Amino acid sequence: MTAETLLTSNAAINPSNTITVSGVTYIYPGTRALDNVSFDIPRASVTALVGPNGAGKTTLLRCIAGLDRPLSGEIRVAGIDVMEEPRLAHERMGYLSDFFGLYDELTVRQSLTHAASGNGVSEAKLATTVTQTAVRLDLADRLEQRCAALSRGLRQRVAIGQAIAHAPNVLLLDEPASGLDPEARHSLAGLFTRLKNEGMTLIVSSHILAELDEYSTHMLVLRGGQVIEHRPLTLSGDHAHAATPGGEQPIRTRLARPLPNPRGLHDLLATLPGTRIVECSATDALLAVQGAADEHAAVLRALIGAGMPVASFHEEHENLHQSYLRSVQLAVQRSEQTASTNTTLQ
Ligand code: ATP
Repeated sequence: MTAETLLTSNAAINPSNTITVSGVTYIYPGTRALDNVSFDIPRASVTALVGPNGAGKTTLLRCIAGLDRPLSGEIRVAGIDVMEEPRLAHERMGYLSDFFGLYDELTVRQSLTHAASGNGVSEAKLATTVTQTAVRLDLADRLEQRCAALSRGLRQRVAIGQAIAHAPNVLLLDEPASGLDPEARHSLAGLFTRLKNEGMTLIVSSHILAELDEYSTHMLVLRGGQVIEHRPLTLSGDHAHAATPGGEQPIRTRLARPLPNPRGLHDLLATLPGTRIVECSATDALLAVQGAADEHAAVLRALIGAGMPVASFHEEHENLHQSYLRSVQLAVQRSEQTASTNTTLQ
């Protein structure tokens, strides 16, 4: 069995490789950390779990990992009820906590063996699993070193190796890149993309949005223990950007100078089929265009055919950072509106 097939075998046999969270509420004394949280995460995806400090990200990951028991609600991982069958669920998931511990006296090989064996990898496959995991995390030359002698970044890699050694269906990572050097962060991003492509479902919590941008397919924003946004991000090149609803692509176009009729650009765009105007000034428009390159070319042809002095025409990419800030701003506006409505009603 090759390294790749061994690591993908669990993911391949379970078609329902998803995470389902329904109505989960978690309360610490005096703090409602999660408030009726519900969402579904599709198989073979990477969800960026983002939100301000204290939003409830760690609590949510701990609940999905079965380490904390919510007051109410249900959580299923790869079809298994985490609260009913925690042991079985643990075999299907890997979890890296934001503050993890390693056994300092164990070598890297012993640490990976211990984790893989504890998560159900058979005796016969242990040695190969450990070697392959070490290769994946660039730890092959450190296998005989004791954890106590490792730098912070290397310890982080061992901890990630422990979380993925048993080829889980679902991988939960709380701030996985903290302490890693830029090269290690980049190779970690590549690893997450490969794991996703092999069928694994990942949730990654991080405050470093530029990094999540490299590999995330979905964004889940938590604030005050509530989900304020959960949506797919489309991937273009190496970067994620927000897709508009209905499979439309955001296109930005600019004219070199205003037309004699300031509404001329708007009036022409309004006549184009499959094109929705998101915003438009005398010289600048953001459009949502149905379809792909051929449809985009048709819009450009129409603009030039009508004599518009088109200076630029391109897909508008919104990165995760912009997307996140917009979600949080909208949530703040919504709660301010609710507060002022309540005040008016009183
Ligand atoms: P950060 O980005 O700062 O890591 P987070 O989004 O992971 O934050 P959590 O750690 O899940 O947030 O905390 C959610 C809320 O629960 C916060 O208000 C926090 O103060 C509170 N909280 C977390 N752990 C405990 C605890 N052990 N006892 C009491 N309250 C807690």
